[in-house]
Amino acid sequence: MKKILMAALMIALVLTLAACGGAKNGGSTTTAGNSGGNTGGDKGTIGIAMPTKSSERWVNDGDNMVKQFEALGYKTDLQYGEDVIENQVSQIENMITKGVKLLVVASIDGESLTDVLQKAHDANIPVIAYDRLIKKTDNVSYYATFDNFKVGVLQASYIEDKLGLKDGKGPFNIELFAGSPDDNNATFFFNGAMSILQPYIDSGKLVVKSGQTKFDQVATLRWDGGVAQSRMDNLLSASYTSAKVDAVLSPYDGISIGILSSLKGVGYGSGDKPLPVITGQDAEVASVKSIIAGEQTQTVYKDTRELAKVTVAMTDNILNGKEVEVNDEKTYNNGVKIVPAYLLNPVSVDKSNYKEILVDGGYYTEDQLK
Ligand code: BGC
Repeated sequence: MKKILMAALMIALVLTLAACGGAKNGGSTTTAGNSGGNTGGDKGTIGIAMPTKSSERWVNDGDNMVKQFEALGYKTDLQYGEDVIENQVSQIENMITKGVKLLVVASIDGESLTDVLQKAHDANIPVIAYDRLIKKTDNVSYYATFDNFKVGVLQASYIEDKLGLKDGKGPFNIELFAGSPDDNNATFFFNGAMSILQPYIDSGKLVVKSGQTKFDQVATLRWDGGVAQSRMDNLLSASYTSAKVDAVLSPYDGISIGILSSLKGVGYGSGDKPLPVITGQDAEVASVKSIIAGEQTQTVYKDTRELAKVTVAMTDNILNGKEVEVNDEKTYNNGVKIVPAYLLNPVSVDKSNYKEILVDGGYYTEDQLK
C-alpha cells in the first residue's frame, strides 16, 4: 500500500514538473532570437513571421493573431525579423524544422522567400501571405490583406478634397513619397494615389517642383522615417527656398512623422508658413496624436483585428480541409501564379472622424491618444 502511494506521489510530482516546464517555455509571443511555443491548446503550432517591431501595427497584428489562434486551440510561434531579410528566412526555417502546421508570413522582402518556402512545401506546410504579397513562388496558398490600391486612392482623394482641386483650385505644390520597393504593397499604394493625382499633375494644377514623380525616385527603402526625413530635407533646400509646399503624399505614418520633422525644421507650422496637407497610413498612436494636434492631416486606418480574424479563419479552414473564403482572384499575380486573396476595406481617418472610427470602434481608448 505504501509503495503504491509512493508511486502515485512520484507520478504526481513528475506531472507537476512537466507542467511547470511547459509553462516556462511559454509566453504568448516570442521575439527574434528567442523561440518557443505558448499556452495554446493542442491543435498544433502556427508559425507567424512578422517584419519588424519598430512599427506598432505589426506588433498589433502579431498580438491579435496569437490571441485568436489560442482561442481556437492552436499554439503559436511568433517571430519578428527586424527588417533583416536573413533573420526572417532563418526564423521561417526554424519554424519548418519544428514542424509548424502552417506558416503566416508578412514578408520583409517579398521576393526573398522562394527557397525557404520550397522547404515548407516539401514538408507539407501551407503558407498564407499576410498583408504583403509573397512573390516568385508557387508555394503560397492564400493572401489576406487590405485593398491596397484603395489605400493610395484614399490618400490622394484626401489631398484632392483638401486642396479643392475638383473645384478647379490651384496650382499647388506637392511632393510625393512611396514605400519600400521590395514590398509589393508600395507600388499598389503609389499607383492608387497616382490614379487620382496624375491628371492634376498633367494639367498643371499640381506641380512637383523636384520633378521626382516616378516610383523609383520617390520610394523609401524599408519604410524608414529617417530616410524620408533626409529626402524631405533635400527637397526643401533644393526646390523650396522661396516656394512653399502645399501637400505631401506620404504612404505610411512613420514616414509622415519624418517628413513633418523636416518641415518643422525649416519653420513650417508656425507664423505664415502653415504645414502642408500630409497623408499617412496605419493610424499609429503617434500619428493620431499628431492629427489631433493639427500636424499630420490624415491617415488610413486598417483594422488589424479584422485582418487577424480573416487569417485565422483561413488557417483553420485550410487545416480542416474546408473551403477558404476569398473575394479577389484576379489582382495579385506574384509572377508565378495569381494568389487568391481576401481584401479588407481601408478607411480614411482625420481629425473629424478619429473619435468615431478609432475610439468608438474600440481600436484605441481615449487615454491612449492623450
Ligand atoms: C503595410 C502598411 C505599412 C507598411 C509599413 C505595408 O506593407 O501594408 O500598412 O504601413 O507596410 O510597415
